[in-house]
Amino acid sequence: MRQRVDALGLGDIADKLDARERLSLEDGVRLFECPDLLALGWLANREREKRHGGRTYYNFNIRLEATNVCVASCLFCSFARLKPGDPGSYTMSLEQTWDKLRERAHQPLTEIHVVNGLHPDLPFEYYTEMLRGFKQIRPGIHLKCFTAVEIAFFADLYGMSDEQVLRELQAAGLDSLPGGGAEIFAERVRRKICHDKCGSDRYLDIHRTAHRLGMRSNVTMLYGHIETKEERVDHMLRARALQDETGGFQAFIPLAFHPDNNQMRKLPAPSATETLRVHAVSRLVLDNIPHVKAFWIATGVEVAQLALWFGVDDLDGTVQEEKIYHMAGARTPEAMTTSAIRRLIRVAGREPVERDTLYNVVIGPDAPDEAPALVQ
Ligand code: SF4
Repeated sequence: MRQRVDALGLGDIADKLDARERLSLEDGVRLFECPDLLALGWLANREREKRHGGRTYYNFNIRLEATNVCVASCLFCSFARLKPGDPGSYTMSLEQTWDKLRERAHQPLTEIHVVNGLHPDLPFEYYTEMLRGFKQIRPGIHLKCFTAVEIAFFADLYGMSDEQVLRELQAAGLDSLPGGGAEIFAERVRRKICHDKCGSDRYLDIHRTAHRLGMRSNVTMLYGHIETKEERVDHMLRARALQDETGGFQAFIPLAFHPDNNQMRKLPAPSATETLRVHAVSRLVLDNIPHVKAFWIATGVEVAQLALWFGVDDLDGTVQEEKIYHMAGARTPEAMTTSAIRRLIRVAGREPVERDTLYNVVIGPDAPDEAPALVQ
């Protein structure tokens, strides 16, 4: 395969990777232009195996989207409804959010992942009380809640600094931030697809502050719409630069654009090959972020399986009740059991490891796998 890489003119990049040298913006763009997907996958897989061998992580989690009322108007979004009362809009009461956890008392969940629309009328206490309630119901659960876009919105709406918002949420039980809202950092793209929410610098600064306050976070990239290859690599380099500073990112998560039911529905969804390419280049460029995750809800289960040989070492988790992608036309299941996830990792030739949010091992690769069932 190395000869094939040389023949493609990528031998210098392979040498850099061998020497643990950083890839440049130009290197990243050349990787995106490489026509030989298998050669690219081979390079990315080497990096993946250097870090994780065959281990593939997942967690036992639940997603919760407490409201889809949102004052922003991102063109790619199929989830948001502008005002309370608009058809299809909803806002859960605090009891309803807590019931989602209570009704799963039998499940060994380790994480709740909460993201919401930017609701203009809820008090800040709605969010702090939500977190406190979760911790009361299940004190050990990890709360990974609110994107940097939501944190910026809370700060502006409630007249606080971003840091004050983070500190108050942390005091109420917040443990880490999810990576959503990054989209593409390039201002040209943001102006077109999400002009009325927090910009890239503020997104990154909120993560910087969260890391300084002792929280970990993830960073995402929405791909497959109007962004260029250069803008994708630029996005990765901005995340890499912050990681050099703080070390607080755990995973990079490319998110496939889904075109149904939104204002960008004329664009095609990214192909499976494009998805594999994006994950592979991410692994190669982001030398300092430990994990590259394929969010199986967005990529599709089969492509996520393949991605385990294209740089990916994490498949997110059981998810349960995902709305954002399903409202954009995702045809994946809304949940997978841990046994189904373990099996799909195993049959892809990799070793399943259940982790908690901070990548502590919960169930190692040698544990026996149960027969898979769709609902747990
Ligand atoms: S992506 Fe988020 S911020 Fe943008 S419209 Fe949808 S819910 Fe609102």
